[in-house]
Amino acid sequence: MGSCEFCNLSSEDEQWLFYTSDFWKVYLADKQDYIGRCIVVSRRHCESLSSLYLQEWDDLKYTIDLLEKVISKALDATMFNWTCLMNNAQKKNETCAHVHFHLRPRYKESIKINDQVYYDEEFAHHYKNDKENKLDSESGEVLFKILKHCMTKMN
Ligand SMILES: [Zn+2]
Repeated sequence: MGSCEFCNLSSEDEQWLFYTSDFWKVYLADKQDYIGRCIVVSRRHCESLSSLYLQEWDDLKYTIDLLEKVISKALDATMFNWTCLMNNAQKKNETCAHVHFHLRPRYKESIKINDQVYYDEEFAHHYKNDKENKLDSESGEVLFKILKHCMTKMN
């Protein structure tokens, strides 16, 4: 499956993997436009929500619960925006697709990472699609360690 993005992640991409379950993988997104943004990816090729097996939904439920708990605890997120869009695979004409979800934590209050303060300027509104990455690479690594540490403690 040479043209599949998720089957061919670089080792650089794979370093942002912070949780693996039987059926799902969770990565910290490279674009941190919303702090703690993650992507939850099906481990098998599966093109649509309707093609998921019940065990995968069960495992997804567990994964969502865990992620929301971890990010609430670690970053004091107020709530979460979840989206499942699946547009890019069509754009790139990929031969396989993996159902995946984008998780954007949302914050009523400011949040501090690596001594820098961030605001969710659109809180209580639809997330902005063209928002820039807020974290430099050092702060991204700090965030990853915070989430990974919290995940290890709570799972
Ligand atoms: Zn694939």
